[in-house]
Amino acid sequence: MLESRSRVEVETTLRAGVLEQGTVDLLVETGVGERMLLEGAPHHGIEFRFGGRGHRIPLSELTDGRAIMLYAQDEVIKDLIHARLAAGGTIVFDVRNVALHDFDSAKPRIRFEHDERVYELRCDFIAGCDGYHGVCRPSVPLAARQEFARAYPFGWFGILVNALPYSPELIYAYHERFSLVSTRSRKCSDCTFSAIRKTHRQLARRTHLGRARSAA
Ligand SMILES: Cc1cc2nc3c(=O)[nH]c(=O)nc-3n(C[C@H](O)[C@H](O)[C@H](O)COP(=O)(O)OP(=O)(O)OC[C@H]3O[C@@H](n4cnc5c(N)ncnc54)[C@H](O)[C@@H]3O)c2cc1C
Repeated sequence: MLESRSRVEVETTLRAGVLEQGTVDLLVETGVGERMLLEGAPHHGIEFRFGGRGHRIPLSELTDGRAIMLYAQDEVIKDLIHARLAAGGTIVFDVRNVALHDFDSAKPRIRFEHDERVYELRCDFIAGCDGYHGVCRPSVPLAARQEFARAYPFGWFGILVNALPYSPELIYAYHERFSLVSTRSRKCSDCTFSAIRKTHRQLARRTHLGRARSAA
């Protein structure tokens, strides 16, 4: 398993915060759900706010007890890395210049650099899980590749707050635009707004300026 970033960086990059029931079940079934069950916070409902009113959707009542679990992506990553290393598996962090060769043959190879040395892995197969900007996707021959994409005319603007959750359950609100009040953990909340690209840039600039002013 090759990873271009350091272990610390991988384990501290904040991204998604909520797991759906299917993922919770999968983590438990595969033996990596212990910490999630202890530290995660199950939520049994969500609130939709529109037209000036809140509407609670009782998820568990409507779905035979299913719920969502607040357990952030970086915590899941920590558990998966720990499980992999505890099982004697290898993860090489901080690799550089990863390149795939003979990707469409029965013996594909990966060349990469680590600690200023060049290595070559001869593989039976390669699982390319290196994200949207990784090297695997463009290495799949064009004729064998099928892509499905949809670009929306808006972006997300998220604010992570080191504060107690604003509400016991997540709030999805619509007023002119969409906004979400979410929770990362028992101590940390976040808000996300949808914004058209121009507004998104304005919001980012204002927040940056606000931060610079309060620092001064
Ligand atoms: C702020 C934020 C909030 C989000 N919230 C949600 C949410 O609420 N719900 C949701 O479903 N999704 C959410 N997402 C999206 C979610 O995080 C991604 O969809 C998900 O991480 C994609 O997983 P992946 O394994 O495909 O790629 P990644 O998680 O990006 O993993 C790819 C890994 O490959 C490594 N890598 C890249 N190139 C190479 C290379 N050449 N060689 C070796 N390693 C390489 C990268 O360093 C990375 O660690 C959010 C994302 C962000 C940024």
